[in-house]
Order: sequence, then structure tokens, then C-alpha cells
Amino acid sequence: MSCFVRNCKNIKRLMPVDSQITFHRFPKDDVRFREWLCSIDLGWNLNNIKWSENMFICSEHFNEQDF
Ligand SMILES: [Zn+2]
Repeated sequence: MSCFVRNCKNIKRLMPVDSQITFHRFPKDDVRFREWLCSIDLGWNLNNIKWSENMFICSEHFNEQDF
């Protein structure tokens, strides 16, 4: 399980057990999925991205109020 954000190097299995970073699967609902994509600056064309169950994002890209 690794983070979807290109310039993020967080990979779950390499994390210390007591890491504060958590991994989240993208919401399957298309509207919420787009909201997530827009809330993180991925730096590439968002229109070509489709939801996948293998897409995860780590908690480093969230603000606390987004949880
Ligand atoms: Zn990340």
C-alpha cells in the first residue's frame, strides 16, 4: 500500500508501527472522489484519473478538518 501522490514516498509497509500516518482509500462516489482529487495538488490532469480500489492517499495530504 503506497500513497497515490506522486511526490510522496510514504509506503505503509515501510512505516514504523507507531507512525502517525494513516492510509485512506479514495471514496468510490464520483463527486467525493473529485473533491479529494481537487483538495490535493497532484500536478497532473485530473480528468484521466479513474477510481481504483488500489488508490490510497496518506494522511499527510489532509488538513485536520477534512477528516
Ligand atoms: Zn502521501
